[in-house]
Amino acid sequence: MDKNLLHTPVTYIKGVGPAKAEALAKELMIETFEDMFQHYPFRYIDKTKVTLINEISEDSQFIQLRGKVTNVQVIGDARKRRLVANFADTSGYLELIWFKGVQYFQNYLQLNQEYLVFGKPTFFRGKANMAHPEVEPIVGPIKLTNRWMPVYGSTEKLKPKNLDSKGLGKIIRTLFEKIEAKDIPEIFPPKLLEAEKLMDRYQAFLNIHLPTDEAAIVKAQDRIKFEEFFCFQMKLLKVKHIRKKFAGYIFGAVGDLFNGFYKKLPFELTGAQKRVIKEIRRDTKTGAQMNRLLQGDVGSGKTIVGLMAILMALDNGFQGCLMAPTEILAQQHFEGISKMVEGLGINVELLTGSVKGKKRKIILDGIQLGFIHILIGTHALIEKQVAFKELGMVVIDEQHRFGVEQRSKLWLKNERPPHVLVMTATPIPRTLAMTLYGDLDVSVIDELPPGRKAIITAHRYEKDRLRIFGFMKEQIKLGRQIYVVYPLIEESEHFNYNNLMAGYESITRAFPPPDFRISIVHGQMHSSDKDMEMQRFKDKETDILVATTVIEVGVDVPNASVMVIESAERFGLSQLHQLRGRVGRGSEQSFCILLTGYKLSTDGRQRLKTMVDTNDGFKIAEVDLKLRGPGMITGTQQSGTFGFHMADVVKDQEILVRAREAAAQILEQDTNLEKPEHQALKKYLSSHKGNKKIDWSRIS
Ligand code: ADP
Ligand code: MG
Repeated sequence: MDKNLLHTPVTYIKGVGPAKAEALAKELMIETFEDMFQHYPFRYIDKTKVTLINEISEDSQFIQLRGKVTNVQVIGDARKRRLVANFADTSGYLELIWFKGVQYFQNYLQLNQEYLVFGKPTFFRGKANMAHPEVEPIVGPIKLTNRWMPVYGSTEKLKPKNLDSKGLGKIIRTLFEKIEAKDIPEIFPPKLLEAEKLMDRYQAFLNIHLPTDEAAIVKAQDRIKFEEFFCFQMKLLKVKHIRKKFAGYIFGAVGDLFNGFYKKLPFELTGAQKRVIKEIRRDTKTGAQMNRLLQGDVGSGKTIVGLMAILMALDNGFQGCLMAPTEILAQQHFEGISKMVEGLGINVELLTGSVKGKKRKIILDGIQLGFIHILIGTHALIEKQVAFKELGMVVIDEQHRFGVEQRSKLWLKNERPPHVLVMTATPIPRTLAMTLYGDLDVSVIDELPPGRKAIITAHRYEKDRLRIFGFMKEQIKLGRQIYVVYPLIEESEHFNYNNLMAGYESITRAFPPPDFRISIVHGQMHSSDKDMEMQRFKDKETDILVATTVIEVGVDVPNASVMVIESAERFGLSQLHQLRGRVGRGSEQSFCILLTGYKLSTDGRQRLKTMVDTNDGFKIAEVDLKLRGPGMITGTQQSGTFGFHMADVVKDQEILVRAREAAAQILEQDTNLEKPEHQALKKYLSSHKGNKKIDWSRIS
């Protein structure tokens, strides 16, 4: 029997029967006392604050009114029956409306009795009304101890079961009658409580649900958010700590290859590139395995950094490999890198799923014997048959498609794990990186190579299409190439295809052969056909590439200078940014045209405006994070909370930083949490099921 009272099922609370319990579990994932406690109010209403009816505006949220009911009547026929009460204060009147419980409220409401009314006003034909408000007769002065009323999130399915905000509040109050301070013991050591000025655990829960004053709510929220971040960071830092203990290969010095390559570079490295190379250099000298995440905007020059990391390995007698998420990208890296290391006596090979038979056998042997120095490829690299002689450095490009497990397969290829550099072009705001990649070291390239012209971005509508086609023709006459991208619509592959094909036909009509040549690439094509079409475009055999988002990552055709995105409102911000990053890679002025319909959502408008306003991937990521919540960005597809019940990675960044530092400090002094003052914390960390909603396999 679990002795922890907090793990008791909610059916043990008075007033919660099996039906309610089932609904709570299904709708809100609430099963135990603790889950119930952790269903925190999302706001509070100050019961002493009364709004005047003539102050109500379209922006008014949940408000409280004070006045009298002057008239009550039932209107409408049987199907649309509703109760309408006129409610007046000294400034004006509005209608209170009930569609349910008509009979009940008709009897309940007394004329000339003073009421407090809570609710969210809505407007109908310019007039405010309030549907299903909470009404409460005023008897005597408002008690100040009950001044702050918590408001709880509920769902449409819960409301009819008497589990609206009010009903949930009642359950939680009942629960607090059962629970004492000793049932919610402190988990933090006294020193931490003092240093961070944190409210103790029981008081925090109590004040969140039954607050006495506003200051207490703030302190309680601070404590709970801190705790959520802290526990999460403890786990991440622990993983990081364990990793640091893995012995890694030592790259004593760089030699001819690294230096030879460096001298031959046709351009100067940016300051940011040099800094990151130094960081990698430092890591690979320590004797511990490197696990580093390299973030850099599209076009910031990550590939060279990755290659130079591999050259460090080669100089020390090891092999290196580079893994890309698609065949097209692997091929492209293979060509680019082969050219870059020409004349240095380095053997580079490409291994993808389509390399078969004898050729494959030769490559596999070459890797095993150490004859091949750099292997470039796709997922094929992590297959069992691929055995390296001595793999020292793994570079993973566009990492979000590789999971932790895939990465760890590479580790198994050696007696010791190779150093790992994960490169991503999806900029992640710093605090989010702390949460997602808290177990990795992070490097950032925050500078673009000099001489890049900022891409000019414009938002256009259907009516501008002819002008856009004219502009495209001009660009093609100047020798440039153009991408036209159509969105993927998740619900219907069939529709996607038709959509794309219709677009392709209309473009073919507007850009007829032989003056214009068009390629098409989409998800339903065989991958070798896809590659062939891409190759034609790269080789400048075609002028326009019509595609779905398959070209989103990494494709590098410097001569392409125009990106036209159809139905741009259907794309997420980071996707738009990635797509735009396909142009602006050469020395010519590049353009991105976002085509949309007229009907745009507020968020959609904001996304397009952000794209037009800035080219800065980090700024775009910040906006994206605010618009969508963190879960969506990372592909974890969660509500954007990482399973935090209260803390918010965006709004509570300052608390996150504090919590991470505090967690690091404790682990530094007491790595295994063996000190007596850390026992409660240790027990809690090992028992609590926090963050159950995270799909860890997606986070690397
Ligand atoms: P990404 O970070 O998007 O992977 P790449 O590594 O593909 O960027 O680099 C984009 C382009 O910029 C490449 O053509 C590369 O040769 C070039 N490049 C990289 N670093 C520099 C630099 N320091 N100066 C000038 N050009 C650079
Ligand atoms: Mg790249």
